[in-house]
Amino acid sequence: MTQPPAPDLRTRLIHHDYRPPAGFEAPQPAVHKASTVIFPNVAAMRAREWKDKSSYTYGLHGTPTTYQLEERLATLEGGRQCLLAPSGLAAIATVSLALLRHGDEVLIPDNAYGPNKALAEVELRHYGIRHQVYDPLDPADLAARITDATRLVWLEAPGSVTLEFPDLPEQVRICRARGVTTALDNTWGAGLAFAPFDLAGDGQLGVDISVHALTKYPSGGGDVLMGSITTRDEALHLRMKLTHMRLGLGVGANDVEAVLRSLPSMALRYRAHDAAARALAQWMGTKAPVAQVLHPALPGSPGHEHWRALCGSAGGPEGAAAGLFSVVIDARHTQAQVDAFCDGLRLFRLGYSWGGPMSLVVPYDLPGMRERATPHLEAGTVVRFAVGLEAVEDLRQDLAQAMERAFAG
Ligand SMILES: *Cc1c(COP(=O)(O)O)cnc(C)c1O
Repeated sequence: MTQPPAPDLRTRLIHHDYRPPAGFEAPQPAVHKASTVIFPNVAAMRAREWKDKSSYTYGLHGTPTTYQLEERLATLEGGRQCLLAPSGLAAIATVSLALLRHGDEVLIPDNAYGPNKALAEVELRHYGIRHQVYDPLDPADLAARITDATRLVWLEAPGSVTLEFPDLPEQVRICRARGVTTALDNTWGAGLAFAPFDLAGDGQLGVDISVHALTKYPSGGGDVLMGSITTRDEALHLRMKLTHMRLGLGVGANDVEAVLRSLPSMALRYRAHDAAARALAQWMGTKAPVAQVLHPALPGSPGHEHWRALCGSAGGPEGAAAGLFSVVIDARHTQAQVDAFCDGLRLFRLGYSWGGPMSLVVPYDLPGMRERATPHLEAGTVVRFAVGLEAVEDLRQDLAQAMERAFAG
């Protein structure tokens, strides 16, 4: 057989014969970047299945890099299947869009991550999907709001900003008894503070879906936006996967690599954030301008007993919690003083999100965020701290100097 003529150099740079030898292995997984995936022949093109991880068909449907992160996240959360989304919010939206149809209703806790509520209030509503907001601290209120039209209940433990810890096992029992699918925003617990698919410790009680903003602790750098949807039921996973595919959601391989790189240190970082946040939260509770400290691991904080029951022995006798806490600055101080306090912080920087090395602070306008009364919260302005990995003593001094200047007199 004669050799075909040597192709043009431009062609040879694309269709090159060299293949690196198999068997390379290193601690960090390779970054496989692909929209196109090459098939060896037409039969393979027709035969390959994109719905599971048995093969590769197209970048949007997965690469070795995305499969690895999905499998590790499923392990982290105690699930069986996992899907990546371009942000935590995109993961939330995928769940709601996969499960809700015109005429259906979704229930959301009043202290939910704000954009989840906004999605229901505007986008879902445009599709004829109704929503109700329930009291996260009153399981009877949740039970009373479930109707024949309820298809999905969102759960969050604890709630965003005010960090009330609900009786999550009881909430799930109520939804199960009524045959309603549950989806937990598990960003705070992160798979480390409690097991979302095994809430009673006997393998019998769990949420149906766990959503995780990987943007936070799994990324750990404040530099990646990503989310995940983890399930234990193949049929439910497939519903998510089909919607995810039709919406065309993909994640960048370099971002996946960043998360794969941070994941091994996540449990250590979580512990460090936790210890520092608890120390600072406790200390803030002794300061005059602070009317209330909100941290589920501190006795007296709303839902503390539910945190203790679920997370109180995770990882050791101290239990586990994320590095977040909020304070209510006493109502006798003006908004201008609270703003001056936040502006006066040097190490706590003003910025949204959390989970990275840098401590962050955000003042909130709580009345504008809630539909229901919040009698468990003191009057005043809520300020949320996301504690990073700086030395705790430096952070304490930063809080002290800013308080002194803003609230003096
Ligand atoms: C940050 C966050 C999200 C959204 O994550 P993004 O990646 O920023 O979209 C969802 N839920 C909770 C509880 C969060 O803290």
